[in-house]
Amino acid sequence: MYCPICGLKNSFNSKICKSCGKDLKGGRDHLKIARYKQVIAMTLPVVLLIIFIATTKYGYEYFQYLGYTILFIAGFSILFLETRSPSYGQHSRYCPNCEHSNFNEKFCIKCGYNLEDILGYFITTNHDIEMNRNYINIYRKYASESADDMVKLAPETFKLNKIRNLRVSSCKTLFSNKPCLKFEYMDEKCKSPARKHGDKCIVKMNIDKKNEYEINSILCMGIYSEALSPQNV
Ligand SMILES: [Zn+2]
Ligand SMILES: [Zn+2]
Repeated sequence: MYCPICGLKNSFNSKICKSCGKDLKGGRDHLKIARYKQVIAMTLPVVLLIIFIATTKYGYEYFQYLGYTILFIAGFSILFLETRSPSYGQHSRYCPNCEHSNFNEKFCIKCGYNLEDILGYFITTNHDIEMNRNYINIYRKYASESADDMVKLAPETFKLNKIRNLRVSSCKTLFSNKPCLKFEYMDEKCKSPARKHGDKCIVKMNIDKKNEYEINSILCMGIYSEALSPQNV
């Protein structure tokens, strides 16, 4: 289970997050129900196909009650699970952690990543940026000779309560004038891709021009208001 507050990966059965103490039970229950539903949805067609083949071969009477019974059990278990699982956002999302396209769930069915708190996910050449309600994750990527695609590394998590002066500005170089996302990170460790500039720890990442508007509208939502303010000295 990935913690929705700090992004840390905990083991599937942990009750609380090792880092921040967040109760993980709700998310795990949700994930279990989603997996049960997935198993039923995948096995039901196979069972029905076997019954169909069997009835055409051995005659209808022998198998009809068995078929009805299985249909009833499957139908009722799906209905039962439906009442147990809360309904969340309607649009389906793409999991930044494992790239699984999930089924309108709050948590990724495959890896347990929290999807509800993602405000935006932006792909650039060298890194992907996940803007989350509680943190900003930066996934660095590099080109590999063996893989056709870019290889994505595990993200570096920047907690929102340590981010200051978050803004979109321009990162001018001799050859390009791309917009970039900048912030100061208030932590003893200045972890990459952040870099020390004097006594400040600065994160500076190029973004694509087409994402500039959406990132700016996320910054205007009010969720990041503390992170937008300049550093208090
Ligand atoms: Zn946590
Ligand atoms: Zn996932």
